[in-house]
Amino acid sequence: MKPSIFASKCLGFDTCRYNGVTIYDDFIEKLKPHVDYITACPEMEIGLGVPREPVRIVLVKGVRRLKQPATRKDITDLMLERGKAILDNLPEVEGFILKSRSPSCGIKDTKYFPKIEKSAALGRGAGFFGAAVLERFSKHPIEDEGRIKNYRIREHFLTRVFTLARFRGLNPTMSALVRFHTDHKLLLMAYSQKYLKILGSIVANHDKLRLEEVCTRYYEHLLDAMLRPPRYTATINVLMHQYGYFRRLLTPREKKYFFDTLERYRREKVPLSAVLMLINAWIVRYEEEYLARQRFFQPYPEALVEITDSGKGRSSAR
Ligand code: SF4
Repeated sequence: MKPSIFASKCLGFDTCRYNGVTIYDDFIEKLKPHVDYITACPEMEIGLGVPREPVRIVLVKGVRRLKQPATRKDITDLMLERGKAILDNLPEVEGFILKSRSPSCGIKDTKYFPKIEKSAALGRGAGFFGAAVLERFSKHPIEDEGRIKNYRIREHFLTRVFTLARFRGLNPTMSALVRFHTDHKLLLMAYSQKYLKILGSIVANHDKLRLEEVCTRYYEHLLDAMLRPPRYTATINVLMHQYGYFRRLLTPREKKYFFDTLERYRREKVPLSAVLMLINAWIVRYEEEYLARQRFFQPYPEALVEITDSGKGRSSAR
């Protein structure tokens, strides 16, 4: 099943920005064949036309308000109502890609100002619609088109939305759930040993709960398990675990090459995919079926694996 992703409409879907343009984004385009997009423009939906005078967030007696300086209109309540209605009417979604820096759609870098007149920004935070999304979908993948240019952030986002979509696409049977859990074991091990255990015990269903209840509990804990990107030390542990499957079959030179590559991954000189390609070659050669099924090796479609990066490194993914 394809993930459903909500995206800000101006990210290449409509010419709905205040100045009548759209923003072409490579990643959004590349994702199109692999996901179902749902889009909306909250500013259009509250009746601001195109082109329109820009809006900004202003602090009024310490409270954030959404204002249109040219008309001096306060559109806070309209935006809050419409934002709620958009979210109330969403079908099930796996994630969000919103427009950065927007007073409506921004999720963390929108400027807010001390007064409606021209002034220096006081700080940055979420826009009004972005804040509503963050509050209602606090455990879902939510990014903006700027942050997602970072390789690690993008990898984490894609891994989560495709894993959630696979879960949504499951036949609701106990054996399908067990299969899902088995195929995601190494991925979950990298994300969180603690949640791997919790999810394992939910699947074991010692309390003999109804299937529907088991699936709901599993889904909720799956969201928790993948909230933060895996630490690279945890990923290295999983890679070492896989190496253990082949240790006795490899030549000394193969072993040395593996450890050199692992060290280069640890020092951020090569992406995870470089180590995975090595292990994948062993999986094929030695027909290791359990590992072959593991989603750790391909958490999202291969066509989306791309190592270009905004250059902000590992730490910016947290
Ligand atoms: S950022 Fe949001 S509100 Fe602004 S034009 Fe884009 S979709 Fe519309």
